[in-house]
Amino acid sequence: MEQGIVETEYFTLHTLCDGVFAAIAKPGQGAWSNAGIIDLGDELLVFDSLSTPSAGEELRHQAESLTGKKVKYLVNSHYHGDHVFGNQVFSDTTIISTYVTERMCKEKNKIEDYEKEKQDMNRYLLQLKKQIDSTEDTILKASLINQYQEMSKVLEDLSQLQIVLPSMLFEEKLTINGTDRTVELYCLGGGHSPSDTFMYLPKEKIAFMGDIVTEDLHVPIYNPEDFLSILKRVKQIDISKIVPGHGNVSDLALCDTLIEYLSLITHRAKEAFQYKLSLEEFISGFAIPKVYREWKGVNGIKANLTTIYTYLKKAKKSTF
Ligand SMILES: [Zn+2]
Repeated sequence: MEQGIVETEYFTLHTLCDGVFAAIAKPGQGAWSNAGIIDLGDELLVFDSLSTPSAGEELRHQAESLTGKKVKYLVNSHYHGDHVFGNQVFSDTTIISTYVTERMCKEKNKIEDYEKEKQDMNRYLLQLKKQIDSTEDTILKASLINQYQEMSKVLEDLSQLQIVLPSMLFEEKLTINGTDRTVELYCLGGGHSPSDTFMYLPKEKIAFMGDIVTEDLHVPIYNPEDFLSILKRVKQIDISKIVPGHGNVSDLALCDTLIEYLSLITHRAKEAFQYKLSLEEFISGFAIPKVYREWKGVNGIKANLTTIYTYLKKAKKSTF
């Protein structure tokens, strides 16, 4: 086994430098997104809690057994379930997020009726299964199968899932000074979700990005204009290693790729809007450029086109 790498059922743990680890999700195993473990000196900080309590438990176990220290903080990058459904494993720690993310977790992730939730998920999975069986498109098929597997893992854990909310809230920046290491949390707004937090280690020049930076993925867009401006600001930071919310450890080049992707589909939406194409005409006439054809989550492209088109229409903007 390669040095500094630990394989688990849910993720591969990479040592980025002494005391800084990236948990890179294994597809379809119940982690779904990436996480980070930071040794602050006397105690640990974990960035994101993965998609299921089972994966979150493994994350905490690895963190504490690798370092012999206890987790003191958990950071939630944003409210999406694949990043926060492991929170309950960290309920004895200080869970940190922005005010907006805490509110979104409260509103969007609440489970009132477990039976109904289960039925809804089963229905959705059945629908996915039908789509998988009926498509000949190998890229779409692979993407749907992955979604099916990830959601099945969430369903498996659903009866034990508890929504645990963040308790330490901030707005734009929070610095945590450990005895040996400092981490900075930044929220530059909401591009992928209403509020996106990333974590920067200034001395090590490592950044854990949540879903504002992902690799080869049609990542859902919340606000295209803010998404672009956040990425452009991130590019100004002195970062040598990036841990994306989904995909492998990389560098700022990932940021450029995403900026190009967002710029291109925004440009196309602007053209469609200017030529007075309807949303349906825009979507049906949109051919995914070759460079993005192998990207994961291809079934999400329609949603992204819709978001951008609707955003432009609402804002009557063509200048960003
Ligand atoms: Zn997300």
